[in-house]
Amino acid sequence: MPFVASRLSRISPSATVAINTKSQEMKAAGGDVIGLAVGEPDFDTPEHIRKAAQVAMDTGKTRYAAPAGLPELRRAIAAKLKRENGLDYTPEQIAVGAGGKQIIFNAFTATVDDGDEVIVPAPYWVTYPDLARLNGGVPVFVECTAEADFKMTPEQLEAAITPKTKWLVLNSPSNPTGSAYSPAELRGLADVLLKHPQVWTLTDDIYEHIRYDGIEFATLAAVEPQLFGRTLTLNGFSKSYCMTGWRVGYGAGPKVLIDAMNMLQSQSITSTSTISQWAAVEALNGDQSHIERNNKIFQERRDLVVSMLNQAAGLTCRTPVGAFYVYPSCAGVIGKKTPAGKVIETDEDFVIYMLETEGVAAVHGAAFGLSPFFRISYALATDVLEDACQRIQRACASLR
Ligand code: GLU
Repeated sequence: MPFVASRLSRISPSATVAINTKSQEMKAAGGDVIGLAVGEPDFDTPEHIRKAAQVAMDTGKTRYAAPAGLPELRRAIAAKLKRENGLDYTPEQIAVGAGGKQIIFNAFTATVDDGDEVIVPAPYWVTYPDLARLNGGVPVFVECTAEADFKMTPEQLEAAITPKTKWLVLNSPSNPTGSAYSPAELRGLADVLLKHPQVWTLTDDIYEHIRYDGIEFATLAAVEPQLFGRTLTLNGFSKSYCMTGWRVGYGAGPKVLIDAMNMLQSQSITSTSTISQWAAVEALNGDQSHIERNNKIFQERRDLVVSMLNQAAGLTCRTPVGAFYVYPSCAGVIGKKTPAGKVIETDEDFVIYMLETEGVAAVHGAAFGLSPFFRISYALATDVLEDACQRIQRACASLR
């Protein structure tokens, strides 16, 4: 009898985490590696947020919290959802978890049964399909091409829905493409969803604040209030507040779902770190000016990376409107030969070649469900990005 449970055979290690770990190990061993694989802001957590955690530690706010999260944090989240998104959630309709990932884990474990279908527009963040699979669900992929700006059309959504569809996952601005749905585009998807009452939507809004070129942010339950009762609005502190290591995310949705998730939470981690939760209260209620400052820097880096990648032989890169990723096509290098004589057959071959020859770690498009592309996170210092893009240009120029 195998020791490891069969359910684990349905999933693979997170490619983003795995490649990041590998590049960190290479670096620690003295390798000249630039890690563009993981998506996390390089900025420090703002000082006032760090201070709030220190105060919590020093004033004994260090005990367990309720599985749903601190009441103070859930109230701050409800106020944020009202203020910024026009959504009326009560604190009882909010669950706090150890990062957005744990909220998705809890939501799917609480609701997905064997054979339930989860619609995942591709390219997607690596974790969505695997958490569906882990729980016996069947991911149904909808291919969203570069020509369509990596976005799903209402017709594609309609065609993907079956009586077995339980969830649709939306992520805008998107990891890995940086594309974002406009309010009108979400309206089109909402019209399809209104016709299918069995379908719930998990809308991952974690890149909400990281937007460029003046684009508007839209979230499903606000665009179509009739879908409020079957939407899980997901968000977190990792990206907007540079708090990846603090592990705080949240979901807001109907009580029936939130109660089920909290029950599961009570039997797993009890609650996310109380100290991190107090820091998160300050993040929402305190000064927000770092967001605009950081976005300005991100936008400059985006422009630099897009321009330099478009100068690399065989690559084409669209200009994304949000998040801190670019998702260039490497169609032009497929079929070419490396100086060592190996033919680049896939985007994975290409990222391995870049890592081995130039020490640049990126993630292959196959991991996100759309090839031949690769993902770069540009949440790194400008001079490092410049160096990385020069290395990529050199790697491309060496192919024949
Ligand atoms: N969201 C980040 C990424 O895609 C964090 C790593 C992960 O959890 O996958 O790189």
